[in-house]
Amino acid sequence: METAIMPDAGFLKRLDNEIKVNVNACYQCGKCSAGCPMNYAMDLTPAQLIHAIRLGLKDLVLNSKTMWLCSSCQTCSTRCPQEVDIARVMDAVKIIAVAEGVKPQVPKVIAFNKATLRNIKWFGRMYELGLICDLKLRTLEFFKDLGLGVRMLRKGKLKLVPSVSPGRTLATMSIFSRVSNKEGQTKK
Ligand code: SF4
Ligand code: SF4
Repeated sequence: METAIMPDAGFLKRLDNEIKVNVNACYQCGKCSAGCPMNYAMDLTPAQLIHAIRLGLKDLVLNSKTMWLCSSCQTCSTRCPQEVDIARVMDAVKIIAVAEGVKPQVPKVIAFNKATLRNIKWFGRMYELGLICDLKLRTLEFFKDLGLGVRMLRKGKLKLVPSVSPGRTLATMSIFSRVSNKEGQTKK
């Protein structure tokens, strides 16, 4: 027996409260999907995701790969004749999925995001070798692209030692701390 998909009336309202994007303006022209460079890998096209949100299909949306594969290139938002900011919707859906503890359908993306943020927090800028090591520990793919990494090291494209500036690190940590306080206030 097939499981019925139940609409969640509060989902659209919650998204509307958080980002103020009028997804109901969408008339399904498909221009967002046609221009999306990641469309080929998504399980729901951007237009389908917007439609699913309008129908309140929260579980379908939050368990989709689509928002995790979105590269935030903004092509969809730029092309939309109805000025629906689809890229913003993608971000909001990701935030809701994380807040609700939904397992990401593309876990490597969240591993990459976490590794990148930690890297920037510590060094105040990107330290590529540190990012690679952190990512390898999170994904346990220790030997993937090893040859490429060695070639990059030989050509001096990856620095062995990070550029450290206490002033820069303090400034970045202060930004992270302000964001974390703000997130705490939002959750209250
Ligand atoms: S481009 Fe805009 S109106 Fe067209 S399907 Fe996408 S969101 Fe809807
Ligand atoms: S912002 Fe995301 S959904 Fe929009 S076109 Fe770019 S990759 Fe596709």
